[in-house]
Formats: sequence, structure tokens, C-alpha cells
Amino acid sequence: MGQLDELIKALDGMELERGLPMRQLTTFRLGGPADAVLFVKTEAELLKALLACREHALPYHIIGNGSNLIVRDGGLRGLVLVIGKHMAGFSQKGTQIIAGAGLSLTALARETVRLGLMGLEWACGIPGTLGGACAMNAGAYTGELKQSLKRVRILENYAIYERDVEPCDLGYRTSIYGAPDKIVLSAMLELSEDDGFAKKRQADYLCSRETKQPLAFASAGSVFKRPKGHYAGQLIEAAGLKGARLGGAMVSDLHAGFIINTGDATASDVLGLIERVRKAVLETSGVELELEVKVWGDG
Ligand SMILES: Cc1cc2nc3c(=O)[nH]c(=O)nc-3n(C[C@H](O)[C@H](O)[C@H](O)COP(=O)(O)OP(=O)(O)OC[C@H]3O[C@@H](n4cnc5c(N)ncnc54)[C@H](O)[C@@H]3O)c2cc1C
Repeated sequence: MGQLDELIKALDGMELERGLPMRQLTTFRLGGPADAVLFVKTEAELLKALLACREHALPYHIIGNGSNLIVRDGGLRGLVLVIGKHMAGFSQKGTQIIAGAGLSLTALARETVRLGLMGLEWACGIPGTLGGACAMNAGAYTGELKQSLKRVRILENYAIYERDVEPCDLGYRTSIYGAPDKIVLSAMLELSEDDGFAKKRQADYLCSRETKQPLAFASAGSVFKRPKGHYAGQLIEAAGLKGARLGGAMVSDLHAGFIINTGDATASDVLGLIERVRKAVLETSGVELELEVKVWGDG
């Protein structure tokens, strides 16, 4: 029996699928098959799966909603651990919220506004989980998770512990609370009482997303980080690449910072287009675009 079969046997009774195409687990709707995917239900299951990966010398990958990922067409080796709806608890005490890593960020944002709190209005419409938002320090408009994230419960080195978040732990679309080193299990956020305008702010931000972003197409949001002093979309437009295509991948003609899947894009179409964009922007403006999306897997 191979190592993968041994691993799957060790995880008997858990919600596990073999050979699942990553296009089913990513908002870009592309990527080849994962050897095995586990939909994690409890912290104990997660720990057991990590120990089994170690025992059988297999790699693992943690995902939330797969909304910041490009998985190559050859797929992912080892075990993909999905921290999603099964780990999505929520509790409130005054202005403090404790939520599971698998909770949808949009659902969290809506619920907090409904409860008369403010601080997460910017997050409504971001299609990730709270765990993914901790790993990316997700943000939009004038907000970012860092402003409210106070304490995290983490699995690291096969042990679970909690720690207070320090201001230097998170930066622009970067954080120390990300897999594979640290897996976020839940987080405590400190919000404020609604100033009476939270609902309106949330609605305005959502409206702005709906008019300015190509939400009818599969994508991973902004492909590139915002370069200092510029906007990636403007640089791409200035390089003449708005609407540029490669196979099924296209630079959005609504928002050039997005690359969209027009229906049948492969990961190599998207990655080829990314390279074309980077080269053109470097030539026309001298700016090196850095990826915000994560690229994983075999070519
Ligand atoms: C239409 C669209 C709009 C978007 N708009 C925004 C925006 O305005 N602002 C913004 O910041 N992003 C935006 N994004 C990108 C994306 O939604 C965010 O980065 C989001 O926080 C990713 O969450 P996820 O659960 O999908 O993470 P995934 O894509 O599944 O994973 C991303 C990274 O987080 C890690 N990770 C996931 N869960 C955990 C966990 N529990 N513990 C540790 N590490 C973990 C993964 O290992 C990976 O490295 C957008 C994406 C789309 C498709």
C-alpha cells in the first residue's frame, strides 16, 4: 500500500475525497486534482490529519474558501485540509466577537452590523473565510482585519494555544498567522458600537464592489498587491493590457487589477497572462508588480 493509501486509511470515518479537482475548491474555478481533500470538522480531526501527514511523509495544504489561490493544472500532492463551514462558530460578548476560522467573512461582517457593531463594514463582499483573512490580513477601503484582530487560537507544531495579536504581526496583505506554520482555528475581534451609519457604509462598499469589480466572472480578486504610490489596475491599463487575453484568461475590462476566467481558462493561461502583464508594466512604468494571490501546485 502506498503512503497516500495509508494516510487515507488512518483518516477513516472523516469527510475525505480523493482526486477532487481544485477548480471545485477555488473561486478562480481552475486547478488540477488534489491527491486527497479533507473537509475538517473539528480541531481534533485537524490535529489527527496533520500527525498522519507527518507519519506518512506527505505534504499538506490549508485552505479556507480558496479565494486567493491559483492552483496549477497538475494539481496538489498530499492532503488539502479545508477549514470551512464545519468550523464556523460565532459568539458575542458586548463589542467582542469570537468566531471560527471557517466562518465566511461576509457572513461575519453582516452579522456584526446586524448586532449593532461597527468595524467590519469593509469586509462585506470579500469571499474568504475568517482564517484566510487572518493569513492575508484582508482589507478594503479604509479597513483591514488588523484593526480588530486581538487574539487568535492557533495550531502550531502539533500543539494548540492562544496568543494576543501584536501590531507588528500583520502588514499589508501579509501576516504571521498563516499556514503552513500557523493554522488559525478561531479568532477574537474587538469591534465598537455602531455610530448609526454602519449599515449605510456596508451598503455603500458593497455597491462600489458591484459596480467596479467583474463579479460575474470567476477570479481570485486583485492579482497584484498595490505598489507603493500606484494602483496596479492603472499601471496595467497604462501598459495597454486592459482586456488582454490568453486562452480563457482575460485582464478584466472593468477593473484591470483583476484577471478573470471567461469560462474555460487553465491555470497556465492565467499564469502566462500574469507574466505578460508584469513584463509590460515593468517596461512601461518601471514598477515590479508583486503577486497578492498565492500560486500552488504542480505545473
Ligand atoms: C471577487 C473577489 C474579491 C476580493 N476582494 C478582496 C478584498 O477586497 N480584500 C482582500 O484582502 N482580499 C480580497 N479578495 C481575496 C480573498 O478573498 C482574501 O484574500 C481572503 O481573505 C482569502 O480567504 P480564503 O478563506 O479564501 O483563503 P484561501 O484562498 O483559501 O487561502 C489563502 C491563504 O490563507 C491561508 N489560510 C486559509 N485558511 C487558513 C487558516 N484557517 N489558518 C491559516 N492559514 C489559512 C492559506 O493557506 C493560503 O495561504 C477577493 C477575492 C475575490 C475572488
